[in-house]
Amino acid sequence: MGFAYDDSNIFAKILRGEIPNDTVAENDQALAFRDISPKTPTHVLVIPKGAYVSFDDFSANASDAEIAGFMRLCAQVVASEGVGLEAGKGFRAITNAGEHGVQEVPHFHLHIMGGRMMGPMVSLRD
Ligand code: 5GP
Repeated sequence: MGFAYDDSNIFAKILRGEIPNDTVAENDQALAFRDISPKTPTHVLVIPKGAYVSFDDFSANASDAEIAGFMRLCAQVVASEGVGLEAGKGFRAITNAGEHGVQEVPHFHLHIMGGRMMGPMVSLRD
């Protein structure tokens, strides 16, 4: 059983080609593009092409091929952005889910962020 997915969200519109995006890489299962409001020199969002709301929805309900394609694209982005452990100085990969996770866009996405020293892992606010 999948989670309730609202296909009017902004990433669904990007996947349908209704609004433009700055694509970094793509495969059959996933799309990587630059965040419109980057918080770090490298700030790429990786999203599955399938309709999944959140990390837990994707992890539970996506096919093995979708999960593999998504993860391989993440690795490709880390390498091409030069932030991986072999060529660069590291990165942070974050996914927010739901209200407590402060998720703004209800289509699963992983933020790949790097190019500068990160702050504390979690900053709490009320
Ligand atoms: P969340 O808070 O859901 O984890 O992150 C949503 C991210 O999507 C934010 O970092 C925000 O800047 C980004 N974002 C929102 N709208 C757009 C858009 O239309 N295009 C792109 N490329 N990024 C967007």
